[in-house]
Amino acid sequence: MAPAGMEALPLGQAVRASGGHLLDVCGQPTVWKAVRMLRTSCHCGAISVEVMRRPAQITECNCSICRRYGARWAYYPRSSTKIAAPAGARAEYARGEDLHFDHCRRCGCVVLYKPIVSTGDSDRLGINMRLLEDPDALAGIKVRRFDGARSWKVAGSRILKQPGW
Ligand SMILES: [Zn+2]
Repeated sequence: MAPAGMEALPLGQAVRASGGHLLDVCGQPTVWKAVRMLRTSCHCGAISVEVMRRPAQITECNCSICRRYGARWAYYPRSSTKIAAPAGARAEYARGEDLHFDHCRRCGCVVLYKPIVSTGDSDRLGINMRLLEDPDALAGIKVRRFDGARSWKVAGSRILKQPGW
């Protein structure tokens, strides 16, 4: 069990997360660090999204819109995200009748997608992790490759070693 407010990370990540200082607690092989929220922002900085935990995995999809945006998605309940955007900063693009993709009106970055009609389980947001302020925060994470273009199934996965690429 992790101490309250802490999470376990593989060693390499924990060292990076702690700014290069190895934190050792109770002489255990596991390294702990304070849970850190993640923050994304569009290029001009007008829109930002905060989430309180690192995602378990992120998704790359090859559907007609995701491949064009080149996004990497992490999914969060709407209630666990904090979106800051001045009035008029966000523009929506509707993909068919099911999803809205929000982008910055000024710099064009795609920030998130959301269901157009929100109902129960569908009340989640896809947050574009390409906009993370610290891309290294995703080092070592699992990237799920979703074949949204054809089979609508997971086509494989890989571990993200160089997050900025
Ligand atoms: Zn912007």
